[in-house]
Amino acid sequence: LRVQTERRSQLVNITPQVQELLGRSEFTEGIALISVPHTTCALAVNEDEEGLKEDVLQLLSRLVPEAGPYEHNKVDNNAHAHLRSLLQLPYIALPISAGKLQLGSWQSLFLVEWDGPRQRMVLITLMGDVANGGKSP
Ligand code: ZN
Repeated sequence: LRVQTERRSQLVNITPQVQELLGRSEFTEGIALISVPHTTCALAVNEDEEGLKEDVLQLLSRLVPEAGPYEHNKVDNNAHAHLRSLLQLPYIALPISAGKLQLGSWQSLFLVEWDGPRQRMVLITLMGDVANGGKSP
């Protein structure tokens, strides 16, 4: 799954795209391991509310200010993005039932961008059972 982010830092709700991809697969029951093969973005599960999304960005920005001093900025001017990503996770495992991600009604899956705008890759690894023994109908 490819995700184009639009801002320097941003929470992008990727739940609809992941659900759609799952819907097109024959996967029914099991676990989806969702991961990002990047070092300056992360994944998170929480509520899709504008104020809260801004609070998340501000919290991590307070914990890791953009201005260093950081060693990594001697080679690449984005140490803050790496360090903020380190405080989150590059993967999330979620249960799947009846071909759908099992999220609570207030839960959404987010890609958290810290060094955008960029095109990001989201990998989805499915473990469990497929319908029809894996054969197309
Ligand atoms: Zn870097």
